[in-house]
Amino acid sequence: MIYKLNGIYYDANSYLIVGKKNILIDPGTPGNFEFLKNQIEEIVKDIDLIINTHCHYDHSGSDYLFEDYFDAPIVIHDSEVEHLKKGEEVTVSRLFNTNFIPPKEIIPIGEVKDELSKIGIEIIHTPGHTKGGISLIFEDKMITGDTLFAYGVGRWDLITGDLVELRASIEKLERIEGYIIADIESFPNIPFWKITADEVKKWWNDKELGKTTKISREKALELIKCIKRDNDE
Ligand SMILES: [Zn+2]
Repeated sequence: MIYKLNGIYYDANSYLIVGKKNILIDPGTPGNFEFLKNQIEEIVKDIDLIINTHCHYDHSGSDYLFEDYFDAPIVIHDSEVEHLKKGEEVTVSRLFNTNFIPPKEIIPIGEVKDELSKIGIEIIHTPGHTKGGISLIFEDKMITGDTLFAYGVGRWDLITGDLVELRASIEKLERIEGYIIADIESFPNIPFWKITADEVKKWWNDKELGKTTKISREKALELIKCIKRDNDE
């Protein structure tokens, strides 16, 4: 089972995978800690691992608080371990006018990938928004971090971002049939959106993808309508 947890303001969406291991994905900024912790504790009492889709502050800023509270280590792509450990510029905490407080125990994803695969979590390296960005697939759902939003892709102009890599990552995700776009703001109670590869391809061809990184409410409503239409057929 996978739960979408509600963030505050500009925080990333956070997710909780409950299964053989309980895994918190992208806990967000420290200001979100109490709010998120309460939501988690209504569902489970323990967290085994915390995974960051990438090292940006709005995804990983509260790692240290959740690590301490749940006694759970942080997992991130191998190429971003050092950024997190040193709270480097790549975390973009400066954009949030704050310093990054690193967590203590950081495990490169390469070390736990096989173990995660055994419990049904597949990791896909999707660089472009940052060098070490990852997407996760669990059951029929995909969490894409800031790589892909409905109608939008992540920024590629921040440090370690790269448009060519981002394009290749989107194409990689496109090939996975019937995946989920999991990052739509303003609709915190609708957890997942299933959108086919053909639809995403069409957005890409129509130059809709990349136009914006956040979907507007009107677009989301349009999207609901077109998804419903597809499902009715
Ligand atoms: Zn980001």
